[in-house]
Amino acid sequence: MKQDAHMPSWGILGGAFDPPHTGHVALAQTAVQALGLERLLVIPTGQAWHKTRPLSAGQHRLAMCQLAFASVPQAVVDDRELQRSGPSYTVDTLHELCTQHPGVQWKLIIGQDQAERLHTWHRWQDILQIATVFVAVRASGAGSAGQLALNTIPLAFAHHILPMARVDVSATAIRAAVQAAAPTATDSISALVGPAVAGYIAAHHLYQGLQAGISA
Ligand code: ATP
Repeated sequence: MKQDAHMPSWGILGGAFDPPHTGHVALAQTAVQALGLERLLVIPTGQAWHKTRPLSAGQHRLAMCQLAFASVPQAVVDDRELQRSGPSYTVDTLHELCTQHPGVQWKLIIGQDQAERLHTWHRWQDILQIATVFVAVRASGAGSAGQLALNTIPLAFAHHILPMARVDVSATAIRAAVQAAAPTATDSISALVGPAVAGYIAAHHLYQGLQAGISA
């Protein structure tokens, strides 16, 4: 896609966000700052074709995203994939966005685990025609350490590196922690998801006693 420096630069950060956590928020903040994004669309997936476990209800993941990303002014939580029936394909989302917002430069922000699978995504070559892909490399050191980490993974598509400070947290670990500690998990998971999301999880009894909720 043709791009020029005067086109507004918008990012897209998709995920299950089940639940959203401090790693996702750090990724959003890093992307906004490093890439000079005017807007970052945070898009919870509807039916995740690549995840084997059933996700929590879309309404909960949407509400938690709104709470989690409230601290990033450029972030806008977008529910289009939750509204769509059928599997959530990024390429469909990008086509819709291009039609709605012509003249925008699209930057797709993905983590390392998604980067390793991007070549299996539906019409992934079309995605690369529409958006520039930025792979967040979680490094404990500075940018060069991040580059080194990614070099161990062969990525067979054009991409840029987005170095970010490592935040060791995953939604899988949070679901497991809630299941193990509920109903007293609110305090212990606050540091991982922030107090607002921790309160939401407790209020709606999410992830308690859900065996299926633990596997990825
Ligand atoms: P799960 O543990 O259920 O697989 P997750 O924590 O990886 O979930 P997702 O919703 O699948 O969360 O991830 C959305 C995006 O955020 C992906 O691109 C993923 O690589 C990235 N991501 C996940 N955890 C982190 C983290 N700690 N730091 C930076 N990026 C992350």
